[in-house]
Amino acid sequence: MQDNPILQVKNLNKQYGPSCSICTGSGKRQIEKNYCPHCQTVYACRDISFELHEGEILGIVGESGSGKSTLMKCLYFDESVTDGEAYIGSYENGQTNVFEESSQHQRYIRNYILGMVYQNPILGLKMDFSSVGNIAEKLIAAGNRRVNHMEARSKELLEHVHIPLARMKDEPKKFSGGMQQRVQIAKALSNNPPILLLDEVTTGLDLSVQASVLDLIKRIQRELGISMLVVSHDLAVIRMLADRTIVMLGGEIIEEGLTDQILEDPQHAYTQQLVYSLI
Ligand code: ADP
Ligand code: MG
Repeated sequence: MQDNPILQVKNLNKQYGPSCSICTGSGKRQIEKNYCPHCQTVYACRDISFELHEGEILGIVGESGSGKSTLMKCLYFDESVTDGEAYIGSYENGQTNVFEESSQHQRYIRNYILGMVYQNPILGLKMDFSSVGNIAEKLIAAGNRRVNHMEARSKELLEHVHIPLARMKDEPKKFSGGMQQRVQIAKALSNNPPILLLDEVTTGLDLSVQASVLDLIKRIQRELGISMLVVSHDLAVIRMLADRTIVMLGGEIIEEGLTDQILEDPQHAYTQQLVYSLI
């Protein structure tokens, strides 16, 4: 693809812990998977680089603990990176490493350019606010002030994700898991972000509910053309959604390519295991 990427990530590293001479020592690191048994440092993301293009859904698949959520949290500035770069096409022409921006600028990026859907709705929603209020919160963060407009927009968004009109004023704590994820999606979409981050959005939902949320994500992508990073431990979810896929293991990218290609001809032993377990 020739167009400028909407998001470019270069050599993102995130470690939890101090590191020591054994895990940073000359040449090869003495670590087990992503962990240094000597100083207990976790290398959650190791040299992650990729590009996300306009209108694309990029899947990130990997087992539990492979660093997927850490990557998403770094991109949404919930966590600070240890080092690395990220450039956003619609922010300063993609010329500024957003990880080096001030927290004020990072807040701007979160509010105007990114939408995030967390695996755990408690992280993304205020469970005691009305659903409309949850969306208004994000609209206010993005500079909206007109109450009537915000209420109308919130209703429109909730309708879009098929929350019944009669329940729009209800608090998310009264909703089922699938409905909570729908409200999170509506909230994430409220500021028309060019980039949507979705972390295990269907994990833990019943299969039928999972299917309806996946349909919703596909419909949003089709109608709004938003670029998305979709994270899941479940290759079946990734297969349904992603044009291209990255496979993570122990904090590293071990394989990437067109999703169809990865499904047909997985190269890495771990990816092969993932693909064969689908059948
Ligand atoms: P995934 O989302 O793929 O399951 P995570 O990104 O949640 O993986 O975790 C990656 C690794 O980072 C795991 O080994 C996890 O234990 C570790 N980790 C995540 N958060 C922290 C933290 N706050 N402190 C220490 N280690 C963490
Ligand atoms: Mg996770």
